[in-house]
Amino acid sequence: MAAATESKMVHSAVVTYSSMLSLLSLCPPFVILLWYTMVHADGSVAQTWNFLKQHGLQGFIEIWPRPTAMAWKIIFIYGAFEAALQLFLPGKRVEGPISPTGNRPVYKANGMAAYFVTLITYISLWWFGIFNPTVVYDHLGEIFSALIFGSLIFCIFLYIKGHVAPSSTDSGSSGNIIIDFYWGMELYPRIGKNFDIKVFTNCRFGLMSWAVLAVTFCIKQYELNGKVADSMLVNTILTLVYVTKFFWWEDGYWNTMDIAHDRAGFYICWGCLVWVPSVYTSPGMYLVNHPVNLGTQLALYILLAGILCIYINYDCDRQRQEFRRTNGKCRVWGKAPSKIEATYTTTSGETKTSLLLTSGWWWGLSRHFHYVPEILAAFFWTVPALFNHFLPYFYVVFLTILLFDRAKRDDDRCRSKYGKFWKLYCNKVPYKIIPGIY
Ligand code: NDP
Repeated sequence: MAAATESKMVHSAVVTYSSMLSLLSLCPPFVILLWYTMVHADGSVAQTWNFLKQHGLQGFIEIWPRPTAMAWKIIFIYGAFEAALQLFLPGKRVEGPISPTGNRPVYKANGMAAYFVTLITYISLWWFGIFNPTVVYDHLGEIFSALIFGSLIFCIFLYIKGHVAPSSTDSGSSGNIIIDFYWGMELYPRIGKNFDIKVFTNCRFGLMSWAVLAVTFCIKQYELNGKVADSMLVNTILTLVYVTKFFWWEDGYWNTMDIAHDRAGFYICWGCLVWVPSVYTSPGMYLVNHPVNLGTQLALYILLAGILCIYINYDCDRQRQEFRRTNGKCRVWGKAPSKIEATYTTTSGETKTSLLLTSGWWWGLSRHFHYVPEILAAFFWTVPALFNHFLPYFYVVFLTILLFDRAKRDDDRCRSKYGKFWKLYCNKVPYKIIPGIY
């Protein structure tokens, strides 16, 4: 399917292949080094660097934890629990956006219920002395190591499934094994009719683990010091507010690029299964051993600023989705929205129309304004760590690069989808992310 290759080649071929190969080979060791530095090297990159300089490759192999039976058990029980909640909890029927080949996926919206059941179960297990979450923290390196290998095998399964048993016509090969493995082959892979693999990897395993680990870090610090520092509280509350917002809006997420455009491969699935639990959680991981005391006033200011950013980010997404859901018959900032009616042709040759919103937060201020509060929120749940070390800020830096790249990928995709209508939109809303600057 040539179209798949063309649409994926947003950057030049050299940049695409070298970035794919370097991400495939560098991400796994990075996850281990990040964990090692946060937990065993005081969060200091210099300390880890000196260790590696002294002990070389052998030293690196020694710090790479082997996946233990305990690690596999934790992952398996957690994964099976989340899969069962996804399958069996009740939820209303929700339709996703029409796919490039004209399919419309159907989901069961039970994310919020799964989120509350997960957190209540986890905290109850601790409260009633059945399972201590500090066990998870104490085996974190082994868990990440098991996730790295297990998820790689899972991505091979996705690649094979895409070839031999695709779930829908939204699947295809680019003709290149690396691209197929990295970007994936299927848009909506399922096991059976109802178990959506991307909902599991991205939402129920990945995003859910972020909240579960935030609670774990808090409990670990409490058990270490007999109290939880205000910096840890701010980080945990903001993380939980963010993840709650995510599950509140989960059926909206099923309309975004991750689900509606990016296929199930290493980039999205390995990212959600490994990168989210290890890298997204890293500011909290750092705070466990670094209980900074901010003081009530500063802690409250940071908390409020973070909540405001999460709210604005939510409201940007809500505006766009409300606008699309009502076919433009809604109010945006108290007024009828301004819009562009953009027609496009699906891969099967059908002509369809999408509405492009050109007023409000996101779509009127800049074409991807929602990324600004997303990045700022990440800054606010990291800044309680203060500035002794750079590493807690890695996630903010990574997110900024990811979202700037994503804005480019999305713009290029929309330009090829909507042609002259996208040009019209860009003339009306000239800035990509930061109004007046970029
Ligand atoms: P979305 O998928 O929500 O939005 C992009 C899509 O919206 C486009 O592909 C296009 O799809 C449609 N669109 C574009 N312009 C308009 C317009 N003017 N009016 C209506 N629809 C339009 O973006 P993202 O997936 O990037 O972001 C969703 C959320 O996820 C954000 O809050 C973001 O911050 C967050 N996010 C978080 C990440 C993290 O790692 N923390 C990573 C990525 C995102 P169509 O083809 O339907 O026209």
